[in-house]
Amino acid sequence: MSYQIAIDGPAGAGKSTIAKLVSKELGFVYVDTGAMYRAMALNCLENGVDKDDEAGVVDLVSKTDVSIKYIDGEQAVFLNGENVNGRIRTPEVGNVASAISVYGEVRRKLVDLQQKLAVSENVVMDGRDIGSVVLPNADIKVYLDAEVEVRAKRRYDELIAKGEDAVFETILSEMKERDYRDMHRDISPLVKVADAYCVDSSYMTIEEVKDAIIKGFKEAIE
Ligand code: C5P
Repeated sequence: MSYQIAIDGPAGAGKSTIAKLVSKELGFVYVDTGAMYRAMALNCLENGVDKDDEAGVVDLVSKTDVSIKYIDGEQAVFLNGENVNGRIRTPEVGNVASAISVYGEVRRKLVDLQQKLAVSENVVMDGRDIGSVVLPNADIKVYLDAEVEVRAKRRYDELIAKGEDAVFETILSEMKERDYRDMHRDISPLVKVADAYCVDSSYMTIEEVKDAIIKGFKEAIE
């Protein structure tokens, strides 16, 4: 039996930063499921398939081979054999990912891949439906939250640090829209499961959040 740590929460709560640190400290494999939805979104953008055209999106997804490899310990997503990691971290790709992740066929394909990864490895997996759908028997199901203004400010600072143009109000309104869609979609919405381990990272340091999750995990497996 392998160990499983599930981390769910809205955009910008710090899931991937924390999941990477927790996995490093425990020697587990980090699985970033958002990157898989982002890769599928990039696929749609590059093939001119409209995010609102469910049949077109599902058809493209069915013809796409998606896989994960670990390069120097970092997860890379491959679409039809091509590493697309460098192209999936834009707000546009994030918004299209949120739009196409409402389609059942898209989710089925990616959930299947995620569950296969967790069978043989100790994993820290982050996303929106990890505790509720992908790994419902995880040792700990973390719900990592933060106030929406704090999350939008973190995204804004990240973009500015990368030298990109960013308008705080635009990021905030897109984030609210994305949260709403992720929480209200019919299939696998972002929910706090009944036995969630809730952490609000708004006024915590990264170190404090990491330590809280590792403590919760150790208590859970005792
Ligand atoms: O976490 P990240 O911002 O990379 O995710 C991009 C989008 O992919 C999310 O807004 C969400 O709509 C979707 N997603 C999902 N289920 C997951 C992970 C991400 O629906 N497990």
